[in-house]
Amino acid sequence: MQQPPSQNMEFEPPPGKVWIYTTLVRWPVLSDLLLILMWLLLWQVSSLMEYEPHASIWFPPAGVTFSAILLLGIRAIPAIAFCCIAVTFWEDANYATHLPVHQLLETGALFALAHISAYTLGASLLKWLISHRDHHQLPSLLLAFTIIGPASALLASYLTQTALMISGVVQNSPESRQLWLPLWVGDLLGIIVLTPLMLGILRRVYPRCGGWVSELGLRQTPGSVWEFVLKLLSAAVLIVVVMMLTAAFHIKEMAFAIFFLSIPQMWIVYTETPFRSGISIALMSCLTAVMMKYLALGEDALIFQFSISVLAASSYFGLLIPVLASSNNRLRELTRKDVLTQAYSRQHFFPQAELEIQRARYYRHPISLVVFDIDHFKQINDRFGHSIGDIALISLANLVASQLRQADMLGRFGGDEFLLLLPGSDINDAIATAERLRTSLPQIQIKGLHAPITGSFGVTEIGSEDTITSAFETADRLLLEAKRQGRNKVLSPS
Ligand code: GH3
Ligand code: MG
Repeated sequence: MQQPPSQNMEFEPPPGKVWIYTTLVRWPVLSDLLLILMWLLLWQVSSLMEYEPHASIWFPPAGVTFSAILLLGIRAIPAIAFCCIAVTFWEDANYATHLPVHQLLETGALFALAHISAYTLGASLLKWLISHRDHHQLPSLLLAFTIIGPASALLASYLTQTALMISGVVQNSPESRQLWLPLWVGDLLGIIVLTPLMLGILRRVYPRCGGWVSELGLRQTPGSVWEFVLKLLSAAVLIVVVMMLTAAFHIKEMAFAIFFLSIPQMWIVYTETPFRSGISIALMSCLTAVMMKYLALGEDALIFQFSISVLAASSYFGLLIPVLASSNNRLRELTRKDVLTQAYSRQHFFPQAELEIQRARYYRHPISLVVFDIDHFKQINDRFGHSIGDIALISLANLVASQLRQADMLGRFGGDEFLLLLPGSDINDAIATAERLRTSLPQIQIKGLHAPITGSFGVTEIGSEDTITSAFETADRLLLEAKRQGRNKVLSPS
């Protein structure tokens, strides 16, 4: 369900967890610490999955950086720069390279510059697109994300390769000039897989930022946790089986069976909340990466990496379906009903009335049409104002609607002219209905309107040769005749 835009841009914590959010709001530095912790933790996860020096199967910190800059703007930069420098020291300890501190600082700073500048560029461009489009254009925003995310990962990888060469951490050889490719695929996977989930998490860590995330209208109520776990388990079993078979039989084609993961993943996307879908994509890609590392499936890395990226991208498009469906329903509702009076619009009334006429003909039931118009409505507008005029139109439509049977249909032809289709009513019933309405119109009481409302009515029974258009022409002619004869009258064919 699409949520109405909230006035309150802050994250609304679930009851029972309010204290966490008030603490984070009071001490924003805690939010920064959490961001640093998450970045470093995910970096550690990715370094466990390195399949060649400096290149990980997937690089989740890229997803954290991209989503942090998307959410917080340049305010995220100091924390991420700190992380980039810290991991340079950490890497030095891991590889036992024992580089001097000044060189590590320089390398860290160059890495930070490469990583942050590329993602700031990409995330700022995406943020600009988000703020300049309304959220009904979610599919194009998502498309922009699937293009801008990988493009900024490509830039980040090329700049990181250059930074590593300038700082002397890798030699400037033809082989290391190809380093950008594994770097890119890892970063790309980190961004595609993690950005939406990280946006959801960081939105909670920084309760004051990113009101636009909840404005996207993707929120849904979560279902049973156990069902979700079961779905996750079936996806996990599929990954494990496919990868173990690939490793056991050394058949490359076998690896492509990983694309069957789309079945449990799309099941999750269509039945769970977007947040849970994000969790599932992240867990599945993590499991794939771990299995790839431990089953030594490095040769097939590209197949697995691309299958996960494609799956993540199609999951996000799948998430849009409820939003698009609710927008379509809303649009259909807008064209079906007149916004002011809630009577059916003329565009909806005529084809619907044609169907009702055919049905009445088939069952040999009578059906009648009443066309009516408020008398001297211009004077009501002129004397009491257009707002009072509007209220008069609404009150009249409500009054008529309250007197109708379920099968009857009220439409607004335009201005102060209305249509009333009465299935099952012959001319005498229809005249009686019109008379009842005519006598009740002056009873409408509106504050500020010091004149009774009256109306003129044209009534006709729809014959076997009539269409809704010919019936309308007859009733409208009678209505004009009623006006000519002094108004506040019901006229029918004599
Ligand atoms: P008559 O008795 O001959 O019907 O006279 P009238 O003054 O009612 O004339 P007519 O039906 O032609 O006038 C319709 C007026 O209704 C003209 C327009 O200014 C006004 N009107 C049309 N739509 C709206 C609306 O949505 N709100 C308001 N307040 N006025 C409207
Ligand atoms: Mg009128």
